[in-house]
Amino acid sequence: MKTKVFKPGAYATILCALCTGGAFASTSTVSSFHYQDDPASHFAGQPVLETLPEMGTSAGSTLSVAQEIKMGDYYVRQMRAATPIIDDPLLVEYLNHLGQNLVSQAKSVRTPFHFYLVNNNELNAYAFFGGNVVLHTGLFAATEDESQLASVMAHEISHVTQRHLARAMEDQQKNSPLTWGGAFGAILLATASPQAGMAALTSTLAGSQQGMISFTQANEQEADRIGIQVLQRAGFNPQAMPLFLQKLADKSSFASKPPEMLLTHPLPESRLSDMRNRANQMPAVVRASSLDFMLAKVRVLTMYSEDQTVADEYINTLNAGQADEVLAARYGSAIQSYQAKKYDQADVAIRKLLSASPGNAWFLDIATDNDIARKKAGQAAQRLEKANAATKNNPVLILNLANAEIESGMYAKADPLLAAYTFAHPSEPNGWEMLRKVSALEGYRSKELAAWAESRALKGDLEQAIELLTQASGILPKGSLEQQKYLARIDQFRDLQRAFKNYK
Ligand SMILES: [Zn+2]
Repeated sequence: MKTKVFKPGAYATILCALCTGGAFASTSTVSSFHYQDDPASHFAGQPVLETLPEMGTSAGSTLSVAQEIKMGDYYVRQMRAATPIIDDPLLVEYLNHLGQNLVSQAKSVRTPFHFYLVNNNELNAYAFFGGNVVLHTGLFAATEDESQLASVMAHEISHVTQRHLARAMEDQQKNSPLTWGGAFGAILLATASPQAGMAALTSTLAGSQQGMISFTQANEQEADRIGIQVLQRAGFNPQAMPLFLQKLADKSSFASKPPEMLLTHPLPESRLSDMRNRANQMPAVVRASSLDFMLAKVRVLTMYSEDQTVADEYINTLNAGQADEVLAARYGSAIQSYQAKKYDQADVAIRKLLSASPGNAWFLDIATDNDIARKKAGQAAQRLEKANAATKNNPVLILNLANAEIESGMYAKADPLLAAYTFAHPSEPNGWEMLRKVSALEGYRSKELAAWAESRALKGDLEQAIELLTQASGILPKGSLEQQKYLARIDQFRDLQRAFKNYK
């Protein structure tokens, strides 16, 4: 199933929301922003310590890990409301699997990690509070293999484990005390929209900011050096790190506008040469991309990109490769046929895919979409029921099964499946949206409202979530268990509102 992605352009909302926090009222608040070449790469040659640097200890100036996680929670909700996040279960599963693989090789991991994919062709990735890492779809087009994609993720993971944002915020507090919210907004703005940050920065850059900028240059180098070790320990090719940096550098010298990623991750020559030296000192690794990487890349290029030329080129390249590559190419062609509404043609390709690999979630997913389009949802549900029983708890299969059941009118089957799923995955939006849909179809109004409330809360609209739950509890018999549950949930949302007030 392809997730509905709303179009970019909504960024402005988040920018305005943050600016009103006073983030840009003072020029000093943009100092966390970094883009200039490192004037003195005084960190070159120093051994890399993978332990955390000392954080300040004065009361109120240190951001605790718990605060960081809460801020992360707040920002993820804001991001859901304002950016075109792709909640595609297959891509989310793939990126989080790859990400956790890298995180398991990182040191000083203090927060859980979550990886998000944003529909944006600009080459960019960034990390923010609470272990949240955002990747743009543009990265898939730019990375030639899985090691390169992993190198970007390892770099971002290292920003988090080294608590660079928290440290920048702490410095911010020392230099010009602000409310946490103000400093937070400034840093977010810099990470969320480099262009806006750039404009503000270039017009207001003062001498006092230079120190901060080179400090964040040091952060970049640290994220590289720790990132490359994480990459190597996870079994990827360490050469991928300098190769991808070189690619970024080439893009910036030949393009009229440098890649967005260079604005959030400045790339002086010293970073490149440092990474080359370090990679050369590591044992050579030959690692082919996994089939999942190729399937993810072909899915991103075919489903989430308006221009199909890059997808076509990639499919052609894959077609000339080994068995796995050919399988990925066939998958891409099947998606393209489905999108062109050539369902019978897609069906032929999908049958071949499924006979090669019957339990493959990527193939089962497109098979479901295609069957639903051909009004054969019942057939899809049968196939998924078997696959789901064999794997257990694969979110992709559960969501697809629920979808096929809803489409074929089997509401009574989809309902408990989604109730269990949302209980296990409360932060995953698709589950709530589908539970809302099936509850409406069944005529269970209070359940529909409650699922809708969860969906709104994930997008940061806690006020509406509370209203919906109030409405839902009003329908129910006084004192019923269900009513108690909704009222307790309202209290939880109010607590969140109070906590989030600090960040606005
Ligand atoms: Zn960076």
